Amino acid sequence: MPLGFPDQFRRQLGVRLTAWYSGVFILSSLTFSMVAYVFVLSNLRDHRDAIQAALARYRQRAEDGGLEAVDALIRRQSSSSRGKSFFVRVVNPENQTLLLSHPRLWEEFEFASQSVAGLEGRWHYYPAKRDGDLLEVASARLANGDLLQVGKSIQDREEVLEHFRDTLLATVIPMVLIGLTGGAFLASRALRPVRNLTRVVRSIVDTGRFDARVPDTRARDELSDLVTLFNVMLAKIEKLVQSMKEALDNVAHDLRTPVMRLRVVAEEALRSDADGQARHEALADCLEETEKLTLMLDTLMDISEAETGAMKLAIETVDLAALINEVMDLYSYAAEEKGVTVQVRATPALLLRADRMRLRQVIANLVDNAIKYTPEGGRVELETLESDGQALLVVRDTGIGIPAAEIERIWERLYRGDKSRSQRGLGLGLSLVKAVVERHQGSVEVKSDPKTGSVFSLRLPLAGTA
Ligand code: ADP
Repeated sequence: MPLGFPDQFRRQLGVRLTAWYSGVFILSSLTFSMVAYVFVLSNLRDHRDAIQAALARYRQRAEDGGLEAVDALIRRQSSSSRGKSFFVRVVNPENQTLLLSHPRLWEEFEFASQSVAGLEGRWHYYPAKRDGDLLEVASARLANGDLLQVGKSIQDREEVLEHFRDTLLATVIPMVLIGLTGGAFLASRALRPVRNLTRVVRSIVDTGRFDARVPDTRARDELSDLVTLFNVMLAKIEKLVQSMKEALDNVAHDLRTPVMRLRVVAEEALRSDADGQARHEALADCLEETEKLTLMLDTLMDISEAETGAMKLAIETVDLAALINEVMDLYSYAAEEKGVTVQVRATPALLLRADRMRLRQVIANLVDNAIKYTPEGGRVELETLESDGQALLVVRDTGIGIPAAEIERIWERLYRGDKSRSQRGLGLGLSLVKAVVERHQGSVEVKSDPKTGSVFSLRLPLAGTA
């Protein structure tokens, strides 16, 4: 049998799970980082809004109070850092600087030499001479023809963004690695029960032995439920296989004796000195043995069919009391002859849906056993009643009883109690009873005591309760 499939399935499933875990992890981390980046970016965009607002403020001052008012405002909002201060400059059309806020902060930038024509209403950038900083400036024309310029260094903004980008890039690789290893680890953990299951199935396929069990992980999840159920199923199969082996052994063993006997009788008959009478008797013996064998094989077949559900039932409405009377007609003579009293207490009109012939066979087997295993002077009682919506048939005897050590085994095929071997029988009666009753959705149980006798209770669904 090719074993590639589960192996391949496991690996593909593992890869798929890893891909899913890692993908979800990486994607969510990236999304989170991108959102943070956009957030920072938009914060820095506010920079331009701040310049525009300051320009409007200074312009208002300049129009209202001239350069002195602008200067006063600069002084009020002064700061010693380039990043926090506004660049404020008033320049006349001849490109002469009339006012400049904190000249020392801006001496790095080359603005003095550049023309200011046409700058109003536009964004303009003055580069720093050395450190690569840029001065981002907005300009507005004042009523007297001078140009008011307000700006800010973009160094801080660029630095933050650059730093953020570097950090992002530096975290992407570890993030992907963590995602992949984490994904592989989680997938491997999640699939461990499946791997165990595969290993056990493979060992069963290879060795044919059902005693292997899948180790139970303590997690209470769907896979562990599957593992538990699988182990229960294995235990059942193991028991079934074992009981089938035993049954087969028993059949082989039990067939051996009658077949050997047939052979001996036939050999005797074939002896040259055997006369016609002896041969006739030998043939009659052979016939009797073959009938026993046929009965045994037929009963074994019936049990198997009932157990597997293959037995066809001719279901009809059956009056239990009437059926018991039919059986008693057959057995009353045998009971009388043995000196066993039989008493029947049947509730009238207990109607069942059952196969009449099979049910009669069941009752007959129970009555037959009760009489067979009850010594002379004993008593057998049959009682029927309705109990919990079911029909209950109780067969009670004052016979030899069943020892506790045997009681579990009496339902097995070909099992015969120690004390019963002197009696006729095949050890198949109760197996058939159980199989047929269960085929009718009923149940049968026994209570027995070697001192007081046995009680077999048989429950069957009443007609109309199916
Ligand atoms: P058998 O052909 O031996 O009667 P059964 O399958 O009918 O086979 O019964 C199995 C065993 O159960 C018997 O061998 C006997 O030991 C025990 N048994 C069944 N019925 C009774 C009973 N009424 N009293 C005592 N033992 C019983």
